[in-house]
Amino acid sequence: MEQKIEPQELQLTKQDFESDQMVKWCPGCGDHAILKSVANIFPIVGQQMGYKKEDFVVVSGIGCSSRFPYYMNTYGIHGIHGRAAALAMGIKLTNPKLSVWMISGDGDSMAIGGNHFIHIARRNPDINYLMFNNKIYGLTKGQYSPTTPKGQKTKTSPQGTFETPFNPGELAIGARGQFFARAIDTNPKLMQKIFIEAALHHGASIVEILQNCVIYNNKIHALITGRDTKDDNQLILEAGEPMLFGKEKEKGLILEGTRLKVVKLGENGITKDDILVHDPTTEDTGIHMMLASMAPPEFPAALGVIRSVKAETLEDAV
Ligand code: SF4
Repeated sequence: MEQKIEPQELQLTKQDFESDQMVKWCPGCGDHAILKSVANIFPIVGQQMGYKKEDFVVVSGIGCSSRFPYYMNTYGIHGIHGRAAALAMGIKLTNPKLSVWMISGDGDSMAIGGNHFIHIARRNPDINYLMFNNKIYGLTKGQYSPTTPKGQKTKTSPQGTFETPFNPGELAIGARGQFFARAIDTNPKLMQKIFIEAALHHGASIVEILQNCVIYNNKIHALITGRDTKDDNQLILEAGEPMLFGKEKEKGLILEGTRLKVVKLGENGITKDDILVHDPTTEDTGIHMMLASMAPPEFPAALGVIRSVKAETLEDAV
């Protein structure tokens, strides 16, 4: 869905949402691009959904990402570790007319807030949950988190981690989440498109953002973002379009038995018609779960809206 609203048509501008606080993230941190993208789309969301400036609320937990409410000129709460979901849900239930945005990181969401994460997914309040995934604890200087790849050496795993990491998409969909998308900090255009779709979705919209921590986990997403590797390792999903990727869109996904498989157009008689077409709206979780699980080198990482299914929200039910 391409949003083509010119700035002069908007009643609000991104400057309305920029705070006067000094941004204290490290230079080069992926958080800067995410902040810019959110400030860019709030006027569009306001216009599309009839929100005024005072209707936006930004809520966070603890971590580098969670400094976010200071940097947005909106109502906001910098909450306690892992508990932003409870705050966001309470705000939405108390005043369903608000546009509630929750900011969290992989440590905040998957470790101390893990229980809150799965329950906000299943309860489905109409909030927008942005989870920055840099696969490390940045604020506390480099301990491994629940999404750190197995075997990675960090300050708390000098011999490499022994633990199998969570995949946030698998967790969200497995917990009956009805909207899950994945963005990346190096592609602001895609990020903004996803944020708008998240806002327009009526229900809990969970967006994982692959974010680079330049200090404690630099290049953790390099295979997906690298100039020479990204074409083969990114599948940008479009509803109703075949799942093609590669520099010339020469590769695609098919279903072989119960598994996804990467194929090349032209090999073994494969044509574009054989490639799976993306349907984020199907209630069945099977393909969505497989798309969320995909990772290089066997598969490209799926970016875009993986799942977007209409369901009753918590506040409507209440
Ligand atoms: Fe960003 Fe990492 Fe610096 Fe935190 S420590 S602000 S995540 S670069």
